[in-house]
Amino acid sequence: MHDATPKATTVLTHCPYCAMQCGMALVNDGERWSVASRDFPTNRGGLCRKGWTAAALLDAPDRLRTPLMRDHKGGKLRPASWDEALDHVVTRLEEISERSGPDAIGIFGGGGLTNEKAYMLGKFARIGLGTANIDYNGRFCMASAAAAGVKAFGLDRGMPFPMEDISRTQAILTIGGNPAETLPVMMQYFDAQREAGGTLIVVDPRRSETAKRASLHLQLTPGTDAALANGLLHVAIQHGLIDRDFIETRTSGFEAARRTASRYWPDRVERITGVPARQIEQAAHMIGEAETAMLLTGRGPEQQSQGVNNVLSFVNFMLALGKAGKPHCGYAALTGQGNGQGGREHGQKADQLPGYRRIDNPQHRDEVAAVWGVDPADLPKAGLSAVELLNALGQPGGVEALLVMGSNIVVAAPDSSRLLDRLGKLDLLVVADMFLSETAALADVVLPVAQWAEEEGTMTNLEGRILLRRPVRPPPDGVRTDNEVLKGLADRLGKGRYFTSDARETFEELGRASSGGGADYAGVTYERIDAEDGVFWPCPSPGHPGTPRLFLDRFATEDGKARFHAVEHRLSAESPDAGFPYLLTTGRVLQHYNSGAQTRRVDELRAASPEPFVEIHSETARTLGVGDGDLVALTTRRGRIVFKARLTPDIRFDTLFVPFHWGAGSVNALTNAVFDPVSKIPEFKICAVRIEKVGAD
Ligand code: SF4
Repeated sequence: MHDATPKATTVLTHCPYCAMQCGMALVNDGERWSVASRDFPTNRGGLCRKGWTAAALLDAPDRLRTPLMRDHKGGKLRPASWDEALDHVVTRLEEISERSGPDAIGIFGGGGLTNEKAYMLGKFARIGLGTANIDYNGRFCMASAAAAGVKAFGLDRGMPFPMEDISRTQAILTIGGNPAETLPVMMQYFDAQREAGGTLIVVDPRRSETAKRASLHLQLTPGTDAALANGLLHVAIQHGLIDRDFIETRTSGFEAARRTASRYWPDRVERITGVPARQIEQAAHMIGEAETAMLLTGRGPEQQSQGVNNVLSFVNFMLALGKAGKPHCGYAALTGQGNGQGGREHGQKADQLPGYRRIDNPQHRDEVAAVWGVDPADLPKAGLSAVELLNALGQPGGVEALLVMGSNIVVAAPDSSRLLDRLGKLDLLVVADMFLSETAALADVVLPVAQWAEEEGTMTNLEGRILLRRPVRPPPDGVRTDNEVLKGLADRLGKGRYFTSDARETFEELGRASSGGGADYAGVTYERIDAEDGVFWPCPSPGHPGTPRLFLDRFATEDGKARFHAVEHRLSAESPDAGFPYLLTTGRVLQHYNSGAQTRRVDELRAASPEPFVEIHSETARTLGVGDGDLVALTTRRGRIVFKARLTPDIRFDTLFVPFHWGAGSVNALTNAVFDPVSKIPEFKICAVRIEKVGAD
């Protein structure tokens, strides 16, 4: 039995939510835990509203405290013992594997899982179950930036420099990112940059909270990012802003990118993007004439069927200006999920093994198999990526059982009505969660797991800084950690000798499995993280200081040069037409994190942002006869949902915006599951939509 008595009155740890992973203190007054400020190098004592209220999760009244099972499809969930639940899961998984092969079992992980869990989940898939089919919800957010980083620079570390460099650069170009709401504490660096005389250009169809602070806002039509980037490059070349010496010595492939950009003169780009030609010229000069400049992308350009190319097109612009691989310059992705960085490094992606090793690379397979003590020939090949995996659920020859850990796919996945159908056809759905999320509520077996402040583990923030989460208490009675769940399953599968549920042992093994890979953690220990306020990877040996800044001498490609990629503007999968005359784009609000499964359970956050809404330009609303607060139905080729209208002058006339954090009526019932061919990221940011008023306020 676990002792629920707090062991300390103050515990230094990190926020449970976004990729800032702000340092915080959890303080116990003898009865309850509350959040206090902690001086940590990234957030410098700052927390946003989500962080300040995070302790409420620890006392959430609907916390799961016992496994739940259904005796038959359509039956009610009933409490079960851990032995009964785990025995049942393993019996069913073995039956399915015997009947249809191990690939009939899928695993869906999460970008909020600690490094230890992400690593162990990938290992459990490959040698616990022998299935190729594991992927995770990071495929919904970071995949395009990650793939573009590898293509352009040879390595994906979302932010290849410390966050503080943002305050030291002269010009920032932010594309489709709204850190003022999604990473609020980061804005102190933007503020410092502005106070030092720096400029900020924001590209976004909405005049977001970040755009309101910008020196220049380019309000482009959703889906026209590559045209805009080519236009910027065109101007830079025509106006003599490019750095020929940098292009010559540190890059390759410029000529093809130059030829492509030569067709994107500003007034043509204005016709495609809706951004005035003079603003395109102004932006190119602001970035090109600054001594130092940074490019930051958010999900706007990334969550598109052209997501990788969109990012690459803006990287071209920065490379041509010589604004990469130098102090206070470069490209970074504004990672969203808490462990969006570490979660994609250690093997829960369908095509990767720990340390960014590729599962289709024989040498990489040998290296990981040696650490795991298995025959490399027994490791599965690459499996289905997230949307492909969800599309295969319940299909003939597809996936018959799914284990979900750290994800609420019913809310977060695109085209969710079709997903609901497919989940209903599964033989077995197992969900490990701390709450009865929308996905857990559909499961055949629900396994209650520990939350962030109830176990030890590491997270890697958006800078590539590895951080230590400390527990304030053990999990409550009846609750296990995710890795205890995996160990329990592995024991029953006769594979227990390969697994441990101890976080420190797991991290030590992860270090060995990542050694020599791109994301090398071999020299990192919990003690070092503690003593140094985090360690930046790569850190290949105990004496290595870690690597806050990458690419200063050479990029991580074979020849050390960054690569241009010629990118043409292409239409997104759906464009407005007579039946669906507007563009629908989705996103986030400050008060909620991802599917909202946690933040919707915090009273203060729920009260501040209780329900989804659709943002409409006031002029568009007037022509439709829609008033503020009226009920409007949005219809796409996938479904129809009613939202409250919120009128604003801050969005394009042709675009509607809905945040996705709510279960009932999630906008993802409307979004398009078409995906980028390289990153496999779904096109959350664009689909064609119709709007009609259905009721007055
Ligand atoms: Fe910091 Fe993000 Fe937590 Fe806000 S949600 S306190 S920005 S880690």
